[in-house]
Amino acid sequence: MKSERCEREDELLDALRRGFAGTELEEHAASCASCSELRLVAGALLDDRADAVASAEVPTAGAMLWRMRVRARRDAESRARRSLLLGHAATLAVAIALAAIFFGPTLATAASQLFHHPPAALHTPLLVVIATSLLLAPLAGWAVVRGK
Ligand SMILES: [Zn+2]
Repeated sequence: MKSERCEREDELLDALRRGFAGTELEEHAASCASCSELRLVAGALLDDRADAVASAEVPTAGAMLWRMRVRARRDAESRARRSLLLGHAATLAVAIALAAIFFGPTLATAASQLFHHPPAALHTPLLVVIATSLLLAPLAGWAVVRGK
């Protein structure tokens, strides 16, 4: 490749800086080795600068402060939600444990009585309802906790 300088390089550089090269200049740059190299290198540099300027978005002090405050508040909110969730789960676990401690023996006695003395057909739907609600209670509790 010729290292010879083209007399139109300055013109092309100016055009690249403005972001617009005329058709005639573009045609010359395409056919001229020196200018096409310049366009490649300078164009990439200028593009990088344009990207940097565009992505920086002029961070004023107020905008920075506002962004920091929004992020801090969002962090606090997610922290609070997590501890609230844990609190609900702990409450639910304690409630289930207490229910098991208080009603466990009664339920066991009732179950063994039912086992030894099968209930009349009349009582079966009631037992199904009780068993279903016992099964669903923890699930409903969990759904409530998750929904918060
Ligand atoms: Zn040239």
